[in-house]
Amino acid sequence: MNKRDYYEVLGLTKGASKEEIKKAYRKLSKQYHPDINKDEEAVEKFKEIAEAYEVLSDDQKKAQYDQFGHAGANQGFGGFGGAEGFGFEDIFSSFFGGGGRRRDPNAPRKGDDLQYSMNISFEEAVFGKETEIEIPKEEECDTCHGSGAKPGTSPETCHHCQGSGQINVTQDTPFGRMVNRRTCNYCQGTGKLIKEKCSTCHGQGTVTKRKKIKVTIPAGVDDGQQLRVSGQGEPGKNGGPAGDLYIVFRVRAHEKFERDGDDIYLELKITFPQAALGDEIEVPTVHGKVKLKIPGGTQSGTKFRLKGKGVKNVHGYGMGDQHVIVKVVTPTKLSEKQRELLRQYAEISGDIPEEQGSSLFEKIKRTIKGE
Ligand SMILES: [Zn+2]
Ligand SMILES: [Zn+2]
Repeated sequence: MNKRDYYEVLGLTKGASKEEIKKAYRKLSKQYHPDINKDEEAVEKFKEIAEAYEVLSDDQKKAQYDQFGHAGANQGFGGFGGAEGFGFEDIFSSFFGGGGRRRDPNAPRKGDDLQYSMNISFEEAVFGKETEIEIPKEEECDTCHGSGAKPGTSPETCHHCQGSGQINVTQDTPFGRMVNRRTCNYCQGTGKLIKEKCSTCHGQGTVTKRKKIKVTIPAGVDDGQQLRVSGQGEPGKNGGPAGDLYIVFRVRAHEKFERDGDDIYLELKITFPQAALGDEIEVPTVHGKVKLKIPGGTQSGTKFRLKGKGVKNVHGYGMGDQHVIVKVVTPTKLSEKQRELLRQYAEISGDIPEEQGSSLFEKIKRTIKGE
């Protein structure tokens, strides 16, 4: 399935503000609303717009989309849930009045989102991995199927609030009689009373279980990026949908490689003869060893690029490179023979500038004169 970029659907570019997203959505959704627009393509277009807006208007979903695009969002996690269950009525009530709806304590409510921090190795982040995590989760109680009442019984309508979950409190104040509404404290606003509680969950309707969840670490994921696993959060209330699980990746540092986006950096030590004479060496990369030609006369700090030997872009935009920065190492321990050869080398090359007043230069001059 080839999905269009959500920003493009709304006629925007990445980085558009909340206000711009809202404005574009209002304009387009009116233009393509099937009640107004009888064009055959209007329904599809309208759905596409609604889906784009559903994601871009939600801070968390937007961040997810900005980081992973459609690719990251659709790796077997059920993606963003699409635009299903997103009725016309819901969309329009949100901006054609319709506010001030009374909160019904028994209305379906989406479960809370959960966050899980996942430590992964450098290689796991680079190549991705199918893995399984175990998280403590509130699950619907099997014994009472979430009602909280002992099997065979059912919750009764709270007679203190007549099931509304709210109680009117009349107060005499200096300004006259005032009616305040507050949450019914007999039923905690649920409008229901449980006479005989379920013994498994003690009337909560949920129990804590350790649940195993399959996770696909997307190849190319970077430290701090997060992934939404749809429907794996806390269970919904009153038949509402479950919340989502957000996995935040923490990538451990590598002993050799350093990562910057899709590129990998490696500092490589070479000897002075290798730098001066040139060499062909084998360099470690995350993809295995790669031959690298060091040309004669290479200076310390020179950077070489191994194209395509970096990290696969998490959005699917190609491969990063590996950069090799060579450091020419000065030997710290020299044998007498090595010293002698280096003195000879200095003598022959004679490339110590005289204006430095170099003591090594003076010594060499004295050696030549036989002093
Ligand atoms: Zn129960
Ligand atoms: Zn009540």
